[in-house]
Amino acid sequence: MIESIRNIAVIGSGTMGNGIAHVFAQNGYSVNLIDIKPEALEKAVATIAKNLDRQVSKGLIDEAGKNATLANIKTHTNIPEGISESHLVVEAATERLDLKLKIFDEMDAHAPSNCILATNTSSISITELAAATGRPDKVIGMHFMNPVPVMKLVEIINGYSTSTEVTDAIIALSKNIGKVPAMANDYPGFIANRILMPMINEAIYTLFEGVGKVEEIDTVMKLGMAHPMGPLQLADFIGLDVCLAILNVLHDGFGNPKYAPCPLLVNMVMAGKLGVKTGEGFYSWTHGTKDLVVAQRFA
Ligand code: NAD
Repeated sequence: MIESIRNIAVIGSGTMGNGIAHVFAQNGYSVNLIDIKPEALEKAVATIAKNLDRQVSKGLIDEAGKNATLANIKTHTNIPEGISESHLVVEAATERLDLKLKIFDEMDAHAPSNCILATNTSSISITELAAATGRPDKVIGMHFMNPVPVMKLVEIINGYSTSTEVTDAIIALSKNIGKVPAMANDYPGFIANRILMPMINEAIYTLFEGVGKVEEIDTVMKLGMAHPMGPLQLADFIGLDVCLAILNVLHDGFGNPKYAPCPLLVNMVMAGKLGVKTGEGFYSWTHGTKDLVVAQRFA
């Protein structure tokens, strides 16, 4: 089955979609990158080009490799057109169940009948998305980490009906593109976000309750626990809207108050302070990512 995967569509060209398209294209796959917003597609292609330039300057690839990668990516604003010849579609649109159910319905209606339908969801049930299709055996979770070109892990999640053949193909494909797959069962947040999100939420509570300031909280976790970046900086990279959506899935799914999102996180999302993607979260991102400036409100 893995040999037959050559054309891959990625739906959603935000933080994750551009990275997923980058990695598949760099490994020789023909990629259709799809988003409803033309400006999101433009931004995604510019981000991919910038990240490829960084790889060239580090000597990881040459100019020809960069150009070949870009040539493997085509953009579309229309799902039916973008997936009509796909062997695999990876859905990486906004983390909302209603939206993903609608997209899965559309993917099922327009992708070839033997096409695998994967989702990069951070927390939503694979089984529920699969049930929106007439091919639940071909639906699987393929959860990449951010930034996709750098991070090795792909968490792979079978739905209730995912076939062994499809799981084997996605494991093999993940290895083909230089990633390390890890299997998780289909429960809210899987493994990665079941562990990560309560930690990020607790860091936000620590700020909310005045136990520490932004820099102190991140410094404690970086220097005290050897984390490569602090939880508040990481939340800014992930997107505070994505963090809130995942916590809500954990809270609703387990019915346990320990997953209740911190009111500060809820307020920041309502205020549109989503982190790197909007220029401000716990840090101000207008100054570039290397120069961490705590946002005015928390300074
Ligand atoms: P994002 O907000 O950066 O991008 C989402 C994109 O989806 C936007 O460009 C939006 O225009 C597009 N979109 C919305 N509706 C669409 C539709 N109907 N058709 C096509 N495109 C549509 O979000 P993101 O952070 O890239 O997250 C995408 C998915 O990846 C989510 O399921 C999220 O949980 C998951 N994820 C995120 C991270 C992270 O660190 N941000 C990590 C792993 C997984």
